[in-house]
Amino acid sequence: MIEVDGAMLEGGGQLLRVAAALSAVTSTPIRVVNIRAKRPNPGLRAQHLSAMQAVARLVNAKTKGLALGSREIEFEPGPIEAKNIEVDVGTAGSTSLILQAMMPAMVFAQSPLTAVLKGGTNNPMAPPVDFLERVLLPTLRGIGASASLELVRRGFYPRGQGILRVSTNPATTLSSITLEDFGDIERVSGLAYSSRLPEHVANRMISSAKSHLLRAGFRDPEIDREILQPSDARCAVDPGCGIILTAELSSKGIISGDALGAPGKPAEKVGEEAAQTLTRQLESCAPVDKHLGDQLVIWMALAEGTSVIRVSELTLHTLTCVRLVEDLIGVRFKVEGERGKPAMIRCKGAGLRNKTL
Ligand code: AMP
Repeated sequence: MIEVDGAMLEGGGQLLRVAAALSAVTSTPIRVVNIRAKRPNPGLRAQHLSAMQAVARLVNAKTKGLALGSREIEFEPGPIEAKNIEVDVGTAGSTSLILQAMMPAMVFAQSPLTAVLKGGTNNPMAPPVDFLERVLLPTLRGIGASASLELVRRGFYPRGQGILRVSTNPATTLSSITLEDFGDIERVSGLAYSSRLPEHVANRMISSAKSHLLRAGFRDPEIDREILQPSDARCAVDPGCGIILTAELSSKGIISGDALGAPGKPAEKVGEEAAQTLTRQLESCAPVDKHLGDQLVIWMALAEGTSVIRVSELTLHTLTCVRLVEDLIGVRFKVEGERGKPAMIRCKGAGLRNKTL
């Protein structure tokens, strides 16, 4: 059993989710200690517990310590089973983060799988569902990790109750990722979404994002609107709003900037925040955005051959994931660059094979 120190570097939930994902696909038993030690509310919260339980069900794992507040768990995976899974966090806990833990095992299962995830779809400090749809999943399809997503209902804080349906296809192996060159910006687009709020909220997020983008030299970004009211089945049970902007590059990279609304935060500020995040990252001329960077690390490690990505910003989440993957499955990464700056990340992957296919 390999021990993982949950207090290492970032010391948050990602360490636990990625450790569980790796344990599941490589059949390596793990003990995780000091879970989320660097967060103000350490231990397993509802989202982490649901993620661990979901992965445990996919691989029939024997577990110890899976309970709310727990700071230490053991996870002994069995073989990946082809099971459709339903997960209900019961709070607004992020469904995207649950998928982060489950997706590797789903892709290395024997057959296509569907997971129905209930909870938050747009949360602070987590990938919005729109990031999965527009950035992460298109990038992963490029290496053979194929998943499609249906947003059945949005879910915002406090009650969540959003629903995502994710379907995966099995992969025999994954091909390496090369996202090194920036190329040209081919298209800037986006989506402003709101539930249970007046129409002007989405319109104001869009105008403010557009005027910021125009000042930065981007003419005519296509920003769609999704304005949901209670009569619409996809409308969240609690009010909420946000915006995501993406720049698609000729090199196949996709850079994003997003922001979430909050009570008392003007819609203009939400639009401006997302546009600023996007334009700042574009200035680095790197084809992988700062969030995608940490989320690709596990896939680079599992793929066949050498993967190379250049990230707009080397984050502590990325460095944490690199260290964790090195410790758990022994692949070696080469990271050139400083934290907070653009960086080049290389890795010769383990070339994991799906033995069931
Ligand atoms: P943790 O803080 O350890 O629970 O991990 C949070 C995860 O959410 C990391 O993989 C981040 O890259 C990801 N994340 C946080 N904010 C965003 C965002 N705005 N867009 C995409 N991913 C995000």
